[in-house]
Amino acid sequence: METPSMRDFRVVNSFKLADGIFELALAPADQVPLFAFTPGQFVMLHLLNADGSVWAKSAYSISSAPADSSETIKLAIKIRGEFTQRAQQLKAGDAVKVQGPFGKFILPKQASHLVMLAGGIGIAPFRSMIRAALDAQPACQVTLFYSCKTLESMAYYDELMRLGAYHPEFKPVCSLTGYAPQDWTGETGRIGAQLFQKHVSEPANATFLVCGSREFVQDMADMLKKSGVDIEHNLFKEMF
Ligand SMILES: Cc1cc2nc3c(=O)[nH]c(=O)nc-3n(C[C@H](O)[C@H](O)[C@H](O)COP(=O)(O)OP(=O)(O)OC[C@H]3O[C@@H](n4cnc5c(N)ncnc54)[C@H](O)[C@@H]3O)c2cc1C
Repeated sequence: METPSMRDFRVVNSFKLADGIFELALAPADQVPLFAFTPGQFVMLHLLNADGSVWAKSAYSISSAPADSSETIKLAIKIRGEFTQRAQQLKAGDAVKVQGPFGKFILPKQASHLVMLAGGIGIAPFRSMIRAALDAQPACQVTLFYSCKTLESMAYYDELMRLGAYHPEFKPVCSLTGYAPQDWTGETGRIGAQLFQKHVSEPANATFLVCGSREFVQDMADMLKKSGVDIEHNLFKEMF
């Protein structure tokens, strides 16, 4: 397949999604329709110098689902070093370049139960996948394990809870590894075998996807292996 070309995009808006995380909505600025993408795929975001030349680029998962909009894509970006600090300063109307979509971390076909494990900003591709999986006919069962330090840093928490209340086939299992508010009714601590077994009774019938830091992905693979999952054939991984 041809490599997607780098295109002119503009910032539609940018807002704080959670502590240390912002969402960027981007739309094509070249009069060409938005590219088609598959939930889970990512784009290369190119930030520009004042003269329009490319300053630097980084990969970001598309956090919106194709059905959300035919004109914009959304990215959920965790503020870390210089690149993301500059990206955070982008305002509506600013020019960027976008190349994509790329990647094979997508919803596996014919899965009847998807188990997703997200560490922090690793939620980004899952947000797109969950919305698409729940829209599919018939919708498949989705269990999401989502671990963050604090509730304030948990991007999309309210939305995930709403989806869980509305769709009986979607079970979000959110866990806080740091401070948990007194009225917190979710889980606490890291995602381990005990928590996993509490929420997934038949792992043999499930397909597993994990996304987060290298350490998180490795920990989850080890935990799933100990829980009897065939991680060679039944686990799909994306590392940020
Ligand atoms: C497939 C994939 C999907 C991802 N999806 C997400 C996501 O959805 N959300 C998310 O938050 N992260 C995501 N990441 C991580 C993301 O790509 C970056 O690694 C992360 O945002 C780095 O942030 P930073 O500010 O520390 O970058 P930096 O380390 O500051 O820089 C990143 C890039 O900019 C260049 N750069 C930095 N400073 C300068 C400079 N002064 N001059 C010239 N060039 C410079 C670097 O060479 C590098 O290429 C994803 C990664 C992958 C591989």
